Amino acid sequence: MSEDPLQTPLQFLPGCGPDRAELFARLGLRTVGDLLWHLPREVLDLTHISDPRELVPDVVQTVRGVVIDRDSRPTRNNRTLTKILIDCGSESVRGTWFNQPWILRKYQLGQVVTFAGKPKRQQGRWEFTHPIVQELQNIDDETGGEMLARYGLTEGLQQDHVRRVMRIAIERFADAVPEHLPDPFREQHNLLKLPAALRAVHLPESSEEYQAGLRRILFDDLFEFQLGLALRRRVWRKRHAAPILPTTAKIDARIRRLFPFQLTAGQNQAIEDITRDLASGQAMHRLLQADVGAGKTAVAIYAMLVAIAAGYQAVLMAPTEVLASQHWATFDAALSHSRVKRVFLTGQLTVAQRRRVLDDIRVGATQLVVGTQAVIQEGVKFGRLGVAVIDEQHKFGVIQRAGFSTDEDTSPHVLVMTATPIPRSLCLTQFGDLDVTAITDRPPGRQKIVTSRVIGPKSRERAWKFIKEQLRKGRQAYVVCPRVASEETASEPDSSPPPASDTNALSASAEDVYEQLRTGELAEFQVGLVHGQLDRQVKANAMDAFREGETQVLVSTTVVEVGVDVPNATMMIINQAERFGLSQLHQLRGRIGRGRFQGYCFLFSDAETDEGNKRLTAMEQTTDGFRIAEADFELRGPGDILGTRQHGQMPLKVADLRREFDQKMLRETRKVAFRVVDDGGFDQPEFAPTKIRVLERFGELMDLPQTG
Ligand code: ADP
Ligand code: MG
Repeated sequence: MSEDPLQTPLQFLPGCGPDRAELFARLGLRTVGDLLWHLPREVLDLTHISDPRELVPDVVQTVRGVVIDRDSRPTRNNRTLTKILIDCGSESVRGTWFNQPWILRKYQLGQVVTFAGKPKRQQGRWEFTHPIVQELQNIDDETGGEMLARYGLTEGLQQDHVRRVMRIAIERFADAVPEHLPDPFREQHNLLKLPAALRAVHLPESSEEYQAGLRRILFDDLFEFQLGLALRRRVWRKRHAAPILPTTAKIDARIRRLFPFQLTAGQNQAIEDITRDLASGQAMHRLLQADVGAGKTAVAIYAMLVAIAAGYQAVLMAPTEVLASQHWATFDAALSHSRVKRVFLTGQLTVAQRRRVLDDIRVGATQLVVGTQAVIQEGVKFGRLGVAVIDEQHKFGVIQRAGFSTDEDTSPHVLVMTATPIPRSLCLTQFGDLDVTAITDRPPGRQKIVTSRVIGPKSRERAWKFIKEQLRKGRQAYVVCPRVASEETASEPDSSPPPASDTNALSASAEDVYEQLRTGELAEFQVGLVHGQLDRQVKANAMDAFREGETQVLVSTTVVEVGVDVPNATMMIINQAERFGLSQLHQLRGRIGRGRFQGYCFLFSDAETDEGNKRLTAMEQTTDGFRIAEADFELRGPGDILGTRQHGQMPLKVADLRREFDQKMLRETRKVAFRVVDDGGFDQPEFAPTKIRVLERFGELMDLPQTG
């Protein structure tokens, strides 16, 4: 039905055929257009031929030589080892292959080849294991080394097949790929046309050409995303006139009196940014970034009370019941001598209670609301909402921001807070339409938490001895476990049970550990248990008992991960710590060191995995959340950090924000996108095709009006 040549099914592409088309289909590639956008995972630059004397280990390099010896023999453990020796002039270099005996027949004595790969020095000679080999006509063949694209494959499909089919697809179809950016704009930003960019990425002749192609393709990916954010911010600003909430000296003094401490410089700076927004008449849309324990709650209270002082309502939304009720306790205590009418709104109210509460909120009789997602549910309508604070926003899902419903024509000011710092590049995407304030200092008098890894029965014994001494001195401890219950039925492979000699090893499950400790190691203390599957009231009671000091030890899952604040708790014991992500570990550690006493974090971990070791070492070495965030991002990518795996990955197609080049492109595209949107250039007809693409990709996700 369509005339679009890019819709041609792959089976009709010369050199492909139905069988291979089926293999491509397994990669989700059905048409020529799909194939052209199957970008190489990497492109090796084999154009530079190295002299063996200048090789360095473990970096991809290429050498060229004449085959002078070949050999294939079985090894002791039933494999075959094939070796090809080439003479490169200054030295001879060896290529080795396991279990590929046919290699021997493939290369003849006297043949000229290149080896590419990461060499190692073995027995006085450079050796390439499983090198990429190219056959050359003769030793003077300067055209030998190429730029070699490497693709994601599937069983039965080889790099050579993909390359051959790709070459044909590029030659016949690349020119059919429509250009959507206006020419002058493209030229101004030094971008190839799309057909040229695709050619450059798949069949580059030089590293520069590949970079130029990649630049264009990354530009589109990131530029469209940033355009979405810029449009979103513009809509927000246009649609959202907001109440003017002034902060007078008197209001300021009255609010400060509520805190039993002086605000830090960082908190004051944040308050300055926020009060400026609140007085501007334009809806605030600000992200407050700070490390755990930096004191975001006080800043939130401040902002909310400014709204209330001006005769408006304020709401705080927290991601979990535990956290919401803790915030409620904090607010309730801070406001105990004030007349502020306040309510705690959860999903647990009876129908009658709820009706009454919602009525009071609607008519504006209630001034301050704290709650879970219940505060944005159907039927919750604020009479005069001035400020909404969303705590730990990253727990709520990608991009989506809460929609608070209010009777006013104006919109509330929104302050978003995160649990831990977010790597800068993620901040510019995930939160790219927000203004950002960072608090980088901490309340005074906080000691650095001492963090140590505990491996094996001996060192566990020492750790428990220390922990018990601290408990006897009146301190408290968390013991965090990776799971709620023991999972005999689980499909996920469990770590093997501890050997019988490991009498003091802990189970992975909070329920088991609770029993283990209560009846064993910690029998002389009061031990509590909290996890997400407990009844709400039971959970609340367990938290209260710990906060009041009735229990000294709280065994839990990561429900205590965010926000929980019990200053007398000085010890955090993380059981099977290798199972937790870095940001999560940092967040857990942030539960302690909140009071006067020295904090100690014990990472119980016997399992040795490479990545696990890296994480635990990072934890031992730094307590700076901004640095932890960057390290976590390097190790695990964006999904895990934002806790968004369940919501799908970042909506980027090509860009990998862990790469420096992509980060550079991110900054560039962000600047350009916000400029063309804000100066109206993007509304000119020449950008219409780009606008359609942006709306298709991000319209729904970012809730953009279809007319832009
Ligand atoms: P987070 O930023 O992790 O949400 P909180 O708001 O929970 O941090 O604050 C952590 C702890 O520090 C709380 O016990 C709070 O009362 C205390 N705190 C906050 N600001 C200050 C300050 N300026 N001086 C002393 N203690 C403070
Ligand atoms: Mg907090």
